[in-house]
Amino acid sequence: MSKYPVGLEETVDFLKGLPGIGRRSAERIALSLLNWPQEKLDTLAELLHELKERVTFCPECHNLAEDGGVCDICASAGRDRGVICVVEDPGQIINIEKTGLYHGVYHVLGGKLAPLQGKGPDALHLDTLRQRLAAGNVHELIIALSSDVEGRATALYLADQFQSETIKITRLASGLPAGSDISFADSETIAAAFSGRVKL
Ligand SMILES: [Zn+2]
Repeated sequence: MSKYPVGLEETVDFLKGLPGIGRRSAERIALSLLNWPQEKLDTLAELLHELKERVTFCPECHNLAEDGGVCDICASAGRDRGVICVVEDPGQIINIEKTGLYHGVYHVLGGKLAPLQGKGPDALHLDTLRQRLAAGNVHELIIALSSDVEGRATALYLADQFQSETIKITRLASGLPAGSDISFADSETIAAAFSGRVKL
């Protein structure tokens, strides 16, 4: 057999588009799915079928939410709405929340400015951020973007757009490894970066 049956090939083709999954890993996953009982495969198919319906994005901050509602953090009465921490994606919120030290709210940008890849301000969730700041209760915007060129450019853009008499813009202290971001940092490093934040 020089080639897999078509049904398996097609599954491999889908899987190999996933982050970190190359051709070889995709083959191993597909072969192992083939050994699952039908019932388990049906459950997986059902989960995938309903994924986008069940997991939605918070209309306030673009964090992950359920069934079209606001996220847990925006729904919580115990959060300080005067401080907004700006992150690239929802995975970073989970990592910051693990520290248990941050009590403000978040705003997920959905990426960073990358003019060379055609990603300008319109590609980010800036309109909703502008609306939240215009509501007038926010006194600090903490920029928790990665410290690479794009992250720094985005931070400067945000400072330029939103810095005002009433809104202080800060960025995390540079305890994080260069070019890295809070997605990969441990809780202690994140806590130190938050407590040592500096004004932009
Ligand atoms: Zn939210």
